[in-house]
Amino acid sequence: MTHNLAFITRLHACVAVAALVSGPALAHDATATHYRLFIGDHADGVVRMITLDEPEAHAEFAIDMTPALTVSASGETVFAVQGDAGKVAIIDTGVAFEDHGDHADMKLSDPVLLQSTIFGTKPAHVVEGSGTIAVFDDGSGDITLFGESALRGAEFAPQVIAAGAPHHGLAAPMGDYLVVSVPHEDPELPRVGLQVIDRSGAQIGETISCPGVHGQAQSARVFAFGCHDGIVLATPGEGGAAPVLTHLATDHLGEGNVSTLKGGVALQFFLGNFGSDAVVIIEPGSEEPFRKVDLPTRRVDFALDPAIARNGYILTEDGQLHVLNVLTGEITQSVTVTEPYSMDGHWRDPRPRLAVAGDHIAITDPLHGLVRLVSTTTLQEDRTIPIDGVPYTIVAVGGSGVDH
Ligand code: ZN
Ligand code: ZN
Repeated sequence: MTHNLAFITRLHACVAVAALVSGPALAHDATATHYRLFIGDHADGVVRMITLDEPEAHAEFAIDMTPALTVSASGETVFAVQGDAGKVAIIDTGVAFEDHGDHADMKLSDPVLLQSTIFGTKPAHVVEGSGTIAVFDDGSGDITLFGESALRGAEFAPQVIAAGAPHHGLAAPMGDYLVVSVPHEDPELPRVGLQVIDRSGAQIGETISCPGVHGQAQSARVFAFGCHDGIVLATPGEGGAAPVLTHLATDHLGEGNVSTLKGGVALQFFLGNFGSDAVVIIEPGSEEPFRKVDLPTRRVDFALDPAIARNGYILTEDGQLHVLNVLTGEITQSVTVTEPYSMDGHWRDPRPRLAVAGDHIAITDPLHGLVRLVSTTTLQEDRTIPIDGVPYTIVAVGGSGVDH
C-alpha cells in the first residue's frame, strides 16, 4: 500500500484494527475491507469522494458541470460524463485488486483526476464489455474505444469509429464486435433498432428492430437493451463469431417499457424499469423471461446487490426503500429512508440515487446534504455522512482484500 496523503495514512490505522484472519494467505496478513463513494454534485461541477471507514478522509475534484457517473467493472476508474460540456472526466479511484489466485490483494492509493479526458460533442453512454470501454457521442455519432489501462498511459489515443448519424445512442463491446443503436433516417424520430458492427465500423448481418432503444446492461456475457416494445438480448456468437441479437416482446406486461437496466453479477438476470411504477425481472433463456413487479408509488432509483445476489433495492417517491428478492419476485421488506421525493417535475430535479457498498446501501439525500448508509441485512440506517453541496449521482468501489 502507498500512503502519501494524510487520509491514506489514517487508513492504515484502520487496517491495523481490522480483524486478523488466517486463511489461504499467510496468517500474519490482515484482511482489509475498504469502500469509497464518488458523489456527483447536482448544482456544481464537482465530484466528491468519501471513504466509508474514515468519512473525514475525503477528496474533491473540480470538473465542468454536474456529472453522470459510471464506474468501470474493475472499480479502478470512474467516468464523470458531462454531455453538455462535451467531456468525460476520468478519475482513478485509488482502489485496485490484484488477483493472487487463492486471494486478492487490495491496493489503495489516493484517488486522482487523470490527465486522460474524452472530448466530444455530447458524450453520453459509457458501456464496458470484453475488456473494452465504449463511449457513445450523441452529438457526432462517434464511438470512442479504449482499454482501461490505456487511460493511465503516457499518451491516451483511443480508437474512434464514425458509426453514423448523431443520436442518443449506445455501443456495447462484445468480443471483436460492437452492438450499436441505429438511428431513424429522420433525426426527429426515435431510434429504430440495433446492429452489430466490427471494429472497422462495417455492419455484420441485419438490423434488429428495437424502437426507441435506450439502456443496456450485461450479465454473464449477455447484453440486454431496452426497446419501446420489449428488449433485445445480444448473446456472444460461437467461437468468436458475431453476437446474435434476439428480440423479446413485452406487450403482455401492459403499459410501459424498459429503458434502464442493471445486470446480475453472480446470477444471470437483469432488472429493468417498466413504466413509472414497476420493475421487471428478466431471465434470458427462461420460458417466461419477464416477471413484472408493481411498486406502491413511482420509482426514483434502483440497484442490485453484487454480494447478496438475490437482492435488488428500489427507492420509491414516498421515501421507501424496498428489498426485492429477484428469485421469488417478491418485495420482502420496505422501510422509510428519506422524506418523500416526488417524481413530478423535471427528471433532472435533485432526487436520491443508490449505490451498494459492501453491506450498506448508500443513498444520496440531496435536500439534506447527506449520504445515508442503510444496512443491506437489517435495512436500518446505520449512520449518515454529511456531504458538501447537493449530493446527487453516486457510485461505490471497494471490497475486501489482503494487505501484505
Ligand atoms: Zn497476495
Ligand atoms: Zn441515455
